[in-house]
Amino acid sequence: MKKRSLVLVTVDCLRADHVGFLGYSRAVTPALDALAQNSVVFSAAIVAGAPTYFSFPAIMASRYPLALGRDILGIAPHEVTLATSLRDAGYTTAAFLAGNPYLSPHFGYEQGFATFRDFLESGSADTSVSGAVPSTNFLSDFNRRIQADSRRTGLTGAAYDALYFWYCQWRLRRENVSMDSLRRYPPADVLVDEACSWLSGLREQPFFLWLHLMDPHHPYYPPAEALSSLDKSDITPRRARFLNSFWNRGDIGARRLERHRDEIIALYDAGIFWVDKQISRLVQALQKFQRWDGTVFAVTADHGEEFLEHGRRYHSPTSLPEQLIHVPLLLRSPEVSGMRLSQEPFSLIHLAPTLLDAVGVAVPDNFQGRSHWKEISAGNLLSEPAIVECVASNNPFQPSDRMRPRLMAVRDAMYKLVIDFNQNFNGITDSFYDLKNDPGEHSPVPDGALPEVRARLFKIARAHLQQTQRNRNVELRLLAHLRAIQQSPAKNQSGAISALPPTGSC
Ligand SMILES: [Zn+2]
Repeated sequence: MKKRSLVLVTVDCLRADHVGFLGYSRAVTPALDALAQNSVVFSAAIVAGAPTYFSFPAIMASRYPLALGRDILGIAPHEVTLATSLRDAGYTTAAFLAGNPYLSPHFGYEQGFATFRDFLESGSADTSVSGAVPSTNFLSDFNRRIQADSRRTGLTGAAYDALYFWYCQWRLRRENVSMDSLRRYPPADVLVDEACSWLSGLREQPFFLWLHLMDPHHPYYPPAEALSSLDKSDITPRRARFLNSFWNRGDIGARRLERHRDEIIALYDAGIFWVDKQISRLVQALQKFQRWDGTVFAVTADHGEEFLEHGRRYHSPTSLPEQLIHVPLLLRSPEVSGMRLSQEPFSLIHLAPTLLDAVGVAVPDNFQGRSHWKEISAGNLLSEPAIVECVASNNPFQPSDRMRPRLMAVRDAMYKLVIDFNQNFNGITDSFYDLKNDPGEHSPVPDGALPEVRARLFKIARAHLQQTQRNRNVELRLLAHLRAIQQSPAKNQSGAISALPPTGSC
């Protein structure tokens, strides 16, 4: 059989309950919903880690993010991945990634790609969430002194923060801005243009194309056209800048943030709408180049996004709620008709081997996941809990932050156990949820209830940790360290994103 080609589209921050084919009520994904009719739709795809840097080792290399040790971020040098496997099988490979600093050659993501563009040089016009206010040295010094003085009590500190926020808004009130000038990452149309141009130069050989789109990532500045399609033209660029600045405030609580939540979600949804529209263009290009019928096409996300459901914003893995770990996954293959798989979880640790199997390329031995292609083609998904692991940390560029204790979840179709190995330095704590009766995870199951289920999930966690110890690949770990030593120190650039952005200054 002629080898199938593969397209993998990953969308940053796209949560499962914001796509139509998984039940979202706002019409943000018409193209994906149509594609889903002819695809295998996974009702419960679960990431293996969050955020980006803890999710992608599983997506690209079918490896749990902490399997090489928590000091290693990204793909280790010479690690076998989806891309290297396809390259070695004779595929032409290309990646176009929308300026996510964690998906760069610095972290090994170029391995296996003949063409690799991460858009990090040309990225953004404005790296500050609040917008920069020019100021004189005198004013800056004066401001710093007042700020320092205000920190003497909680009350004056809060008053200073509030005043400073509104002062920044006042300073910016007349500045002319556009969504394009405020946006931090190249929008999906730029990435799809690049991909189409690359596709147009291909000959007959099988190819692997990976696109990573950042449109739903904060700060939320979707194209005006997307807002207008969702009847949200009232959110002007200036309004969007205010909303993003407000949403980013660290000095107020969830209750006050709540007042702009709907508008923030509208901006986020418009980003998803734009992604959807551009994916549709990509599909049309594949059809035009007569590559669609021979291509397996997969769309998923690296993690979701929180909008105060548990009092938090963005996607910092402080805990592992469904909003963060449950992502969309659809897989279209020419010979498999459309179907929806049940609520059994499908861990993205299995995605790479399943995709290799779907295109007919051997799955490497080092992958921790296994192909589910046979079951999937037959319309089944075996019951197998998904494991999510990460380190609760805001700054992965700081090695000391990465040494923090592990946070993990074991999730099956009905229950979820979240284990925090050192919550507030109090030792291991766990939260156990009944997802069927409490899908919002508002109240953990009381201690002592459902002891057998809880024990079963704990045993799965323990087996996972034991396996991690046994399988630790010392050679890859050393190679990754060597790379870190040889590279100039990873700078904690102002343009580099963190899971939770810094707050405060204008
Ligand atoms: Zn991400």
